[in-house]
This record gives sequence, C-alpha cells and structure tokens, in this order.
Amino acid sequence: MGNIIAIDGPAGSGKSTVARLLARRLSYIYVDTGAMYRALTLKALRKGLDLNNEEKLIELTRDTELDILNDPSGGIKVMLDGEDVTSLIRTPELTNNVSYIARVGGVREKMLDSQRMIGGRGDSVCEGRDMGTVVFPETKYKFYLDAEFPERASRRYKELLGDGCKLSREEIEKDLKVRDHKDMNRDIAPLKKADDAVYLDTTNMGIDEVVDKLTVYVNEGRG
Ligand code: C5P
Repeated sequence: MGNIIAIDGPAGSGKSTVARLLARRLSYIYVDTGAMYRALTLKALRKGLDLNNEEKLIELTRDTELDILNDPSGGIKVMLDGEDVTSLIRTPELTNNVSYIARVGGVREKMLDSQRMIGGRGDSVCEGRDMGTVVFPETKYKFYLDAEFPERASRRYKELLGDGCKLSREEIEKDLKVRDHKDMNRDIAPLKKADDAVYLDTTNMGIDEVVDKLTVYVNEGRG
C-alpha cells in the first residue's frame, strides 16, 4: 500500500476542501468517504427503504457497487452501481438522512473493505470520520481538523447558499448540531480524534494555510 493521509473531523471543519487540495498538491488520490455513505443513502431513499431497518440496509450495501474516481481537473466522481451521482448527494434532505446508514455495523464493515481497496490504489488522502481510528489506524499521517461551532456553521451556510439552498442560518445550525451529535455518539466508529492524530483548530485559518501546514507535516514525515 502507498502512503495514506487520514483526515477526520466534524462537518464544516474544512476537511473536504483541505483534503482535496492537499491531494492535488501532492499528486495523491482523494478519497471522500462521506460521499460513499451519501450514495448508499441515496439508493436507500430511492428504493423507499425504512432507514431504521438495519437488515435491509446491510442487504442493500452488499448489493451495491460504489466507487470514487478522481478526474484530471482535481474533481471527484461518485459512482453508484455505475451511475454518476456526484451532483445528487449533497442536498440537505439527503445529508440529514446519512446518519441512519452510517450507524449500522454491517454497513460499515463493507464500507471499510471498499475504502481500504480504494485508498490502496496508490498514495491517498482519505477523509471522513473514522479514517485515523478504524479504517487506516496504522498510517503515520493522521490529522483531526476542527473549528469552533459558529465558524463551522458559517462555512456550511456559505456552502449551501452557493448551491442555491434556501435554509435559514438557524436551520443549518440545528442540522449541524444534530449531525455532529449523532456522528460523535454512535456505538460503532464514532467521530473522534485518534490518539496519535495531529489536532488542528482551523477557526482562524485560511484553507491555503491549513493545506500548507499539513504539507509540511507530511514532507517532514510527521502527522
Ligand atoms: O463528510 P460528509 O459530511 O460528506 O459525511 C456525511 C455523513 O457520512 C457524516 O455525517 C457521517 O454520518 C457519515 N460518515 C461516516 N464515516 C465516514 C464518513 C462519513 O459515518 N468515514
């Protein structure tokens, strides 16, 4: 396996943007594992599955082909059973439903294999909630990005506004709080900093500054 840079953190911590830019700078593969849970949720919703029925969700996961492809311009394509669903998996409705599938052990086991397979294709920046703790615990490059809540809410608000979403700031704050709480408190692979991860508070940092800092850590063989 090549180098794996594991980046975890809550929503709005900047980790997706940072991971994508870091991957581009180092010529690594960018693996957005949240997109995989999102694509599975899209499939479950399309099929009208009861998101509380764990057996059905595990069965669905077993019958699903997921892939993350990097395109030369630095973007990614999220493939669900051969269909490009990249533009369909970021809606607030979908985002608020991902936690159902993400808490199921049998689903996460299958995702673990897929993520190790995708991340194992070459040097990779793998981003999510359990990269440093569960999926790639052996890697020496681990980062946990965080930011104060108002800043994370502002980033999420701006991002959704850019996508034409009409949710109020209050609604966005509420959704973010609920999602973080579920991600941090589920029984299996909850979001938490790996003991050996570098913690970075990005509240007052620009994206480039964070990418620069991570690059230095990686180039020095630390992280
Ligand atoms: O990173 P993103 O916001 O796209 O992730 C969406 C959701 O997918 C998270 O809120 C979390 O519930 C789930 N997720 C996870 N484990 C990962 C990545 C994402 O449980 N490694």
